Amino acid sequence: MAFEGLTERLQSAMSKLRRKPKVTEADLKETMREIRLALLEADVNFTVVKDFVKQVRERATGTDVLQGLNPAQQIVKIVDEELTKTMGSEAVPLNKSDKIPTIIMMTGLQGAGKTTTAGKLALKLKNEENARPMFIAADVYRPAAIDQLETVAKSIDVPVFQLGTDVDPVEIVRQGLEEAKAKHNDYVIIDTAGRLQIDEKLMNELVNIETLAQPDEILLVVDAMTGQNATETADGFNSKLNITGVILTKLDGDTRGGAALSIRAVTGKPIKFVGQGEKMTDLDVFHPDRMSSRILG
Ligand code: GDP
Repeated sequence: MAFEGLTERLQSAMSKLRRKPKVTEADLKETMREIRLALLEADVNFTVVKDFVKQVRERATGTDVLQGLNPAQQIVKIVDEELTKTMGSEAVPLNKSDKIPTIIMMTGLQGAGKTTTAGKLALKLKNEENARPMFIAADVYRPAAIDQLETVAKSIDVPVFQLGTDVDPVEIVRQGLEEAKAKHNDYVIIDTAGRLQIDEKLMNELVNIETLAQPDEILLVVDAMTGQNATETADGFNSKLNITGVILTKLDGDTRGGAALSIRAVTGKPIKFVGQGEKMTDLDVFHPDRMSSRILG
C-alpha cells in the first residue's frame, strides 16, 4: 500500500505526543526528530524535509500551541497543513487555449506510464468535456510505442495521427497539428519518445517539438515508485523544457511517498493528476489536502 511506512511512523510519533498530559519543548523536539526520520526514510528530498520541519517547528513552538488547548491535536493540524502546502496547497487545473486545439505534450522516461496516461487523459477529456481529442504519435524510436498508442487509442475511440518511424518527430508533429486543425479536434495530445535516462539527444528533440508546437501544457509523467529518482528526473526535464505540470503514476503501488512530497517543492511545478491503476479510468485530479490526509492516515 502507498505510504504505508510513512503513515505508520507519523501516526506513532503523533500518538506518543497525544498520550502526554502536557507537551514540552523537549517533547516537540523529539516528535520533530521522529517526523524528520520518517520523511527521510520515505525518500523525501533532504532540503524539502529540512524546510518542512523548520516550518512546523516554528509554528508549533511557543506558548500559543504548547500551552493552549490540545497541543498534540494542534501539532497534528500544523503537520497536515504544512504537508498540504509542501504538495502545492491547491489542485491546479489543466491549461487551456482560448482557440482550439489545446495542445498537450506528454513527456517522461520510458516505462513511467506516458502512453497509458495519455490515454487516460484523453478519456477524461472525452467523458468530462465531451471533447474530441486526437493523438500524435511522435515516438519513432520504438515501433512498439506506436502500436501501443494505437491500441490504447482504439480502446477509448480516439484517432491517432502517425507517419510511422521514418519521419522526423518534429515534422510528424507539424503535420499532425495541421490535421487536427483541419478536423477541428479540440485537444491534441502528443506522445513523445522516452528513454531509460535523460540524454541530450532526446532533450534536444523535445525542445524542438516544444518550439514548433508551442504547447499549452507540457506534462511530465513520473513513476511515483522511483522515489527521489522521480524528483531528479523532474528536475532534469524541467531545466530544459517549460514543464507546466507533473503527473505522478503508480500511486496504487507501494510507493513510499518521496516523489509525491518532493516534486512540487523541488521543481516549483504542480502535480496536476495522479495515476492510480492500469485501467483507462484510473486517473484523478491531484488534491494536496486529500493527499496529506491520506498520508497521515
Ligand atoms: P511509457 O513507456 O512511459 O509510455 O509507459 P507505459 O504507458 O507503457 O506504462 C508502463 C507500464 O506502467 C505499463 O504496464 C502500464 O500499464 C503501467 N502503468 C502506467 N500507469 C500506471 C498506474 O498509475 N498504476 C499502475 N499500477 N500501473 C501503471
